[in-house]
Amino acid sequence: FPPDRIRNFSIIAHVDHGKSTLADRLLEATGAIAAGGQAQYLDKLQVERERGITAQTVSLVYRHLGADYLLNLIDTPGHVDFSYEVSRSLAACQGALLLVDASQGAQTVANFFLAFEQDLAIVPVLNKIDMDSAEPQRVAQQLKDAFDIEPEECLRVSAKTGLGLEAVLPAVVERVPPPRGDPSADLRMLLFDAYHDEYRGVVCLVEVLDGRVQKGDKITAASTGTHYEVNEVGLLAPEPQPTGELLTGQVGYMLVGMKDTRSARVGDTWHHQRMPVPALPGFKSAKSMVFAGIFPLSADGFEQLQAAMERLTLNDASGKPRAAWCLRSTAVAVRRENSNALGAGFRCGFLGLLHMDVFRQRLEQEHGASVIVTAPTVPCRVVLPGGDTLELQNPAEFPLNVKIAEVWEPTVAATIVTPNDYVGSIMQLCQDRRGEMQEHAVLGAGRTLLKYHLPLAELGGDYYDELKSVSSGYASFDYEEAEQAHLQRLDILINGEPVDALARVVHRDKAQVVGRRLCAKLRDLMDRQQFEVVLQASAGGRIVARETLKAYRKNVLAKCYGGDVSRKRKLLEKQKEGKKRMRRVGSVDVPQEVFHELMKAG
Ligand code: GDP
Ligand code: MG
Repeated sequence: FPPDRIRNFSIIAHVDHGKSTLADRLLEATGAIAAGGQAQYLDKLQVERERGITAQTVSLVYRHLGADYLLNLIDTPGHVDFSYEVSRSLAACQGALLLVDASQGAQTVANFFLAFEQDLAIVPVLNKIDMDSAEPQRVAQQLKDAFDIEPEECLRVSAKTGLGLEAVLPAVVERVPPPRGDPSADLRMLLFDAYHDEYRGVVCLVEVLDGRVQKGDKITAASTGTHYEVNEVGLLAPEPQPTGELLTGQVGYMLVGMKDTRSARVGDTWHHQRMPVPALPGFKSAKSMVFAGIFPLSADGFEQLQAAMERLTLNDASGKPRAAWCLRSTAVAVRRENSNALGAGFRCGFLGLLHMDVFRQRLEQEHGASVIVTAPTVPCRVVLPGGDTLELQNPAEFPLNVKIAEVWEPTVAATIVTPNDYVGSIMQLCQDRRGEMQEHAVLGAGRTLLKYHLPLAELGGDYYDELKSVSSGYASFDYEEAEQAHLQRLDILINGEPVDALARVVHRDKAQVVGRRLCAKLRDLMDRQQFEVVLQASAGGRIVARETLKAYRKNVLAKCYGGDVSRKRKLLEKQKEGKKRMRRVGSVDVPQEVFHELMKAG
């Protein structure tokens, strides 16, 4: 395929507007997957399928007016947490399908602006026109008002019924310009993603900008000067299919015997050995919005966790803080952290709470690491009486013995779309999380749109789970950054000793309520000890809650009568096992599950 027969494009859409469904239809139409086959092909990872985020690339061969075209669909994650990655993926594209649910309208525009910033050809597509509540006219006008998109440019389709879909790929061929590279120039390649495959090792996703690359070529990564030999190269169709070479404008995968995804610097320029080319402008680094500690569930699990973290991030897990590009797109900033209570672990910065949740799930699902994630915190700003300010990432850093004038926390502007039936319980949930309603609009087709200002910190813990459960899974949620607003550090003390891993920053008005709840929960969860244990919560220099755990001598053998030796041994072994999962705080043993439960308690 010469460059003028290649189109590199992506689909940009708000979560739930039908991107996966449309992608499936396009794959079927070009025979890349069988019709009615595995649904949502692009959503490869279980957790991404659950959460509606994807980032996967496929090549399609499409015949248009008697000529074959190679169409590379470079998928981008739909959630705003991932807008940084969207801009990364878009760097490999010349055009984008702007997919908008015609029954909802263009809600989240952050990613749309990314497409405009990168000067992509835009093909607007109004989806779900089969729905009674679809208002393609109104949505087209909205696009005209917001982006100056002409209503007659908008395609109208139903990804579900197939209506109008025959116009989509011709529009890609006709409206998206071919890649602009020079086939006769020296090789210049963009590394835009990398992931670890169990059988193939590190798989690099590249776009050839100029020249060509062949199997057996010796190439160099510009940022590090590392040399590699191309062992295999090909297209993703959608499974990797070796072709022996990639030409100008083509997007594909490459195996270069890389042992470690750490070496794959996404955004890097690759060239032939000893034939350097001007490097591409680097990607600007992502900003961590949410921080949390990640610790192994059992004391001896650190090495396994470290290995899993290394595989999942491209980070130097030994503790050097550097912006990190994680396997298939999870930008997680990582540094080593030691907690008095939980031992060695990592403090991680995430792009958002969803990003954090996905990362945790992947650690557990794909890498078998059982972890404790501490209550997520958001960077907050402390203003001292003199006017000096401190930026904090961790509640444990919250100054204890200084007077504080003000504390500010980030809040978000959240958009929730839900079937009408669940509006009441969702409003209750948002209110409990200190939300302030901004907008309440009926969308038609039995659905309602709610806009809230919510403290980012309140979205942590079980917020998504709660939202899901109160809406039977039907509510969609999205947010953008908003402004800041007043906080205090809350410490939990066991026999007078603060437990760093349980510290958190809470809204001033809520310190007492949360403190009481945590102390009561802690009392219920902990085993009695051989002495009395005092549980306290302190905030703003005062004790705001207190519970006592009465002394008790635990004798596991009390239940055994007579001489059943094997049963006795079993019980003793069980107790030993239980011991292993204890953490010692001062002179008090705290079972691991207690931390788990308290983190969840939010
Ligand atoms: P994504 O989050 O953008 O990937 O959206 P999905 O493709 O997962 O679709 C979200 C929901 O919308 C699913 O329940 C789809 O079945 C539904 N959907 C997608 N396209 C259409 C359409 O054209 N018409 C109707 N009625 N439903 C659609
Ligand atoms: Mg999807």
